[in-house]
Amino acid sequence: MKICYTVDEVRTAVKEWKRQGLSVGFVPTMGYLHEGHRSLMEAARKDNDKVVVSIFVNPMQFGPGEDLETYPRDLEKDSKLCEEVGVDIIFHPEPEEMYKAGFCTYVDMNGLTTELCGKTRPVHFRGVQTVVLKLFNIVTPDRAYFGQKDAQQLAVIKRMVTDLNVGTEIIGCPIIREADGLAKSSRNTYLSDEERRAALILSKSLKLGREAIEAGERDSKKVIDIISQNIATEPLAKIDYVDVVDFATITPVDKITGETLVAIAVYIGKTRLIDNFIVEV
Ligand code: AMP
Repeated sequence: MKICYTVDEVRTAVKEWKRQGLSVGFVPTMGYLHEGHRSLMEAARKDNDKVVVSIFVNPMQFGPGEDLETYPRDLEKDSKLCEEVGVDIIFHPEPEEMYKAGFCTYVDMNGLTTELCGKTRPVHFRGVQTVVLKLFNIVTPDRAYFGQKDAQQLAVIKRMVTDLNVGTEIIGCPIIREADGLAKSSRNTYLSDEERRAALILSKSLKLGREAIEAGERDSKKVIDIISQNIATEPLAKIDYVDVVDFATITPVDKITGETLVAIAVYIGKTRLIDNFIVEV
């Protein structure tokens, strides 16, 4: 396994692989890797001849007052995990390598990014789309792997790839959870013991919402109420949003039909956690 710090190093390696007719799988991450990331890397390993993982805490997708400076980092531990899974290249650029002086070109979207996380994080998706397209242009992967944990991001990237004719297949992978149900996240490390216990309210409340839909409930408002009321029973939790949207377009729906995303963001203390499920009705 090689760690590349520059765009040129990655391009040179990938060019040689392509010359040999090898396929390339790509997993973009911000590092501090856990089992969720591992599942994407394993899927990439299974489907492709070569695997590239990027570890880049992308300043552009953090808004003012967000956790860019405190975001956890541990390249040594991440390298071990990547090595274990059989990753070929870790791409770990400095921000200055990705954003050269004078940088002023962005990828933006009119739909999909205004709801859910887009409401509280208005510059987030522009930063995500821009960095992901840049990474795609650098790595030129055949397939790229994204977690359903960030369901809106997955929908946005799928849309971007369709709209801009990017020749990379986007593969969505299921949410990996702790044994007690909490969705794995690099940000879980911010939680105190008490907050860690309180954070279970996310997956528990979503479960109630899912059970209601499985029992035949089709009214989004009722599902939102069931979830919100349960979250409200946890004193450390503060709701950012509880929403029901069409998964492909990320637009709110009154009635649950087709592929529907039920998504929540909840502050546990100062830490903002997200979770979701997708139902096909
Ligand atoms: P991040 O490092 O948080 O930017 O995440 C990198 C990729 O890993 C994204 O595609 C995430 O959706 C995915 N990911 C993060 N947590 C999980 C999880 N618990 N299960 C599945 N995928 C995840």
